[in-house]
Amino acid sequence: MAYKYLIIGNSAGGIGAAEAIRSVDAEGSLAILSDEPCVAYSRPMITNLLTGQASFNNMVYRSSDFYTENRIETLLGKKVAKLQPSENKVTLDGGEEITYEKLLLATGGTPFIPKMNGLQKKGIHTFTTIKDAEEIRGKIQQQEIGEAVVLGGGLIGLLTAEALVTMGLKVTVVELLDRVLAPLLDPKASAMVREVVERNGIQVVTGRTVTEVLGKDEVTGVQLDDGRWLPCKLFVVAVGVAPNAGLAREAGLKVNRGIAVNSRMETSIPNIYACGDCAELLDFLSGNNRPIPIWPAAYMSGMVAGSNMAKSPKEYDGGVGMNSMHLFGFPVISFGKVNPTDAEGCEVLSKTDEVRGAYRKIVLSGNQIVGAILVEDIDRAGILLGLMRRKVDVSGCKEALIQDDLGLISLPRAVRSRMFEMSVKKNVAK
Ligand SMILES: Cc1cc2nc3c(=O)[nH]c(=O)nc-3n(C[C@H](O)[C@H](O)[C@H](O)COP(=O)(O)OP(=O)(O)OC[C@H]3O[C@@H](n4cnc5c(N)ncnc54)[C@H](O)[C@@H]3O)c2cc1C
Repeated sequence: MAYKYLIIGNSAGGIGAAEAIRSVDAEGSLAILSDEPCVAYSRPMITNLLTGQASFNNMVYRSSDFYTENRIETLLGKKVAKLQPSENKVTLDGGEEITYEKLLLATGGTPFIPKMNGLQKKGIHTFTTIKDAEEIRGKIQQQEIGEAVVLGGGLIGLLTAEALVTMGLKVTVVELLDRVLAPLLDPKASAMVREVVERNGIQVVTGRTVTEVLGKDEVTGVQLDDGRWLPCKLFVVAVGVAPNAGLAREAGLKVNRGIAVNSRMETSIPNIYACGDCAELLDFLSGNNRPIPIWPAAYMSGMVAGSNMAKSPKEYDGGVGMNSMHLFGFPVISFGKVNPTDAEGCEVLSKTDEVRGAYRKIVLSGNQIVGAILVEDIDRAGILLGLMRRKVDVSGCKEALIQDDLGLISLPRAVRSRMFEMSVKKNVAK
């Protein structure tokens, strides 16, 4: 098989790229290949599939019509085992070979599993794919599970715990750090979320990890590093996702934490591009490249990659870590730098409404917003994010930023107009 454009990964990044390619080149042969056997779906919705609140149909991101209408050939349920850049070729794990003119790696992330004894037992899961959600759901429907342990108090860990407790399980979350959602929230917001999840029946153990999975063939419990034993028939490891860059590394592409790309999503080897969770994307705050494993960054970087693959030059203007969650209906949004160190010399504006359980924190550096946490009152997140992305000088309106009635109208005219300036860099035809 031979294609002008070959995309590995049928998710946010791959779809963004395919759409961009087709907006420029309507005819060039284009294939999307994925080891997942289904059309693209909303990965963040797998918790809804687990609980039964959504069916696969509710989660479809691009239906089969999308591929047909855009003349995209789908090679689904197929895994790429090897890249051979010198021959513009990839080899599938069954030995089949596919050649390309332009290749995109949109291979996403791989769940990280820390070393511990007993990992070969049945009943241990990760939670990043529809298959994971279906397997866990099937198990809960077939067996009396009773107790579950989730390792990891990050976003995916807490979402998993919420789903499991909703399904009637007794759930314990074990987190190595001293608080949940530590990279995303400050201690105060983290404590507020912890209070909500505990009030909803989840037991949270912080400052601990699992050293051993117990049981003969199947999981019967886990051993913590303080010697405690937690009984469970279901153990979900959700400690984070690492860029899935193994294929790229083995093929000699430059890989740091993720696949290294320039602003056009070109890797270190000609005609190979990378985007999304597998790559290191530009962080517009720091100006450095790093993994930014969120859906919008994957889609946007995919669009940039696709445009460039189709010879319509575009540059990625950067993303930023941003997370929005509604655990048990409790809304929280955080983005950018939320835990500045003293040495960074940031200014922090904050406001707490104890009665409503609302909290707002805005981090400034050099009179520009560099991060924020919004708990309960999340409506104004878009304004703050816009000001941050445009690097607007907010020295004249700091008080307004933290007020309950923050709105565009409460900002000085100069700030408003700066905010609306186009941030997307124009096509650069070089
Ligand atoms: C439970 C959960 C909740 C989330 N919630 C949010 C959220 O609220 N907001 C947000 O912005 N983001 C969220 N995310 C993150 C978001 O889903 C990812 O950032 C996004 O899916 C990344 O898209 P991607 O295209 O880079 O890669 P992925 O979505 O990971 O897709 C990569 C695809 O490539 C395939 N692949 C990999 N290697 C090969 C190979 N060798 N051969 C063939 N196919 C291969 C994979 O099987 C996969 O289908 C969540 C993720 C999870 C798991």
